[in-house]
Amino acid sequence: MKQGIAASAGIAISKVYKLEKPSLEVTPVTANVEVELANLDSALEATKADIRTIKQQSIGRLSEEEIAIFDAHIAVAEDPEFIEQITQSIRDNQSLAALAVQSVSEMFAGMFDAMEDEYFRERAADIRDVAYRLKAHTLGVSIPNLTLINEEVIIVANDLTPSDTAQLNKQFVKGFITEIGGRTSHSAIMARSLEIPAVVGIGSILPEVKTGDTIILDALEGHVYLQPDETLLNEFETKRKDYADYRESLKVLVDKPSITVDGRHVELAGNIGTPEDVDAVLENGGEGVGLYRTEFLYMNATQLPSEEDQFVAYKAVLEKMGDKRVVIRTLDIGGDKELSYLKFPHELNPFLGYRAIRLCLDRPDIFRVQLRALLRASAYGTLAVMFPMVATIQEFRQAKALFDEEKANLLNEGHQVSDSIELGIMVEIPATAVLAERIAKEVDFFSIGTNDLIQYTMAADRMNQNVSYLYQPYNPSILNLIKMTIDGAHKHGKWVGMCGEMAGETMAVPVLLGLGLDEFSMSATSILPARKLVNELSYEAMQKLANQCLTQATEEEVIELIKKEIDLV
Ligand code: PEP
Ligand code: MG
Repeated sequence: MKQGIAASAGIAISKVYKLEKPSLEVTPVTANVEVELANLDSALEATKADIRTIKQQSIGRLSEEEIAIFDAHIAVAEDPEFIEQITQSIRDNQSLAALAVQSVSEMFAGMFDAMEDEYFRERAADIRDVAYRLKAHTLGVSIPNLTLINEEVIIVANDLTPSDTAQLNKQFVKGFITEIGGRTSHSAIMARSLEIPAVVGIGSILPEVKTGDTIILDALEGHVYLQPDETLLNEFETKRKDYADYRESLKVLVDKPSITVDGRHVELAGNIGTPEDVDAVLENGGEGVGLYRTEFLYMNATQLPSEEDQFVAYKAVLEKMGDKRVVIRTLDIGGDKELSYLKFPHELNPFLGYRAIRLCLDRPDIFRVQLRALLRASAYGTLAVMFPMVATIQEFRQAKALFDEEKANLLNEGHQVSDSIELGIMVEIPATAVLAERIAKEVDFFSIGTNDLIQYTMAADRMNQNVSYLYQPYNPSILNLIKMTIDGAHKHGKWVGMCGEMAGETMAVPVLLGLGLDEFSMSATSILPARKLVNELSYEAMQKLANQCLTQATEEEVIELIKKEIDLV
């Protein structure tokens, strides 16, 4: 058995899909020209077939613009000049097809790289992408493509990028295991919104598995079992069914309010990454969307999404949620979230660098497009907008000024815009928590982003396993910052939510409730267990518990207190 971090609850038993990107290195030899030409022909056919399949499978999941990129890739694989040059290189140099593909594609890509126009520079990426696939086929090496998976598997990888995760098809991908990462890495967050069981940070596992091996993924405990015997398989089959029954039993709570035994009502909302995730929030009884991470819209694209593309996505979410509030967060890019088509400066500390609202204020050309799309979508539901990584009140003021300007522009242009959009900020930098009372005068709400708030308070990178012991949601320092935020907002009649992963943790709910949190936003699958818990608790008792927790010196003491009060193991 191997122990990792349970990142997305559930149990899966399936075959391994080992995700490794081969390096495709080749040693030059004098090749047989006819053999290599035939090799090239069949590799070209196989490459085109792959791209067509990927394109087919993307329909309905990617935008038309994104799908069009596959046509551009097919055009590269069919380009007579490109093929002619490769053929010539095989003949002239008696070269292996793989090497000819490599040198010719680099020459073409290099030409595009040097061009001024961004459109042409993007073509270089297309050529490299196609060439990598073509070269792999000439070598008989298969390269992994997650969208091509068409049987039930558990993916085992060193890591999955957020966009890899976004492409996973739930029908076939029953779970995933990564060697690195933590509960708040973005692949883990995506796994929860897709409701795919996941264990992350398991350490070295790739050398011990091969594609096709049977594997058990217990993402309730964070355990992974390699080569399980019959007894273990039966045991986990039962566990899997029991868990499914437990989930089923929670369904009676879907339409029930989240209210304590002594009448305190809180809102339990869902976190989403794409418009499709809304269904899971509603199925799980979400009373709103407390965080829509719009960066996935940008990360799954090949260029900045247009105002229209964004409008369509935001409108879809707002319409589906009806009169339930949807909090949409403006672009939170940077840190571990990059865009292939946007150049980021090389920084020593990207998490402390050019990201989120900082980048948006520096690039109003990008920011205004998003604000316009949000404002236009506001006519279709109950919209709240929040800005990420705000460190100072001036940043909020600047963002609000741009928002107001675009609102006026749109009204002048004759668009409909709601006049009751709430504007808030994420509290994820200690500076804003400390000044919450002053900032609360100007914002409509706060949403506490504990994933970052903890990393910045403890000065411990949320992705770094070596310092993961410092990632302490229950440290009294964090609880006191949360209290300052809530008290500061309440003083001015503003509401406070939490959309960091802590909001959905069984052990955190009692304390957060006691601290006076108004809205809890979490992955869809956590909503019903949280509602069950809230319904069983007394607000008064939780206030006492919270007050005691605030005065402790260590996380261990806080956890001890919570466990004593609530019957948790
Ligand atoms: C957070 O920091 O808690 C948060 C919700 O934002 P993200 O995880 O997207 O950084
Ligand atoms: Mg954050």
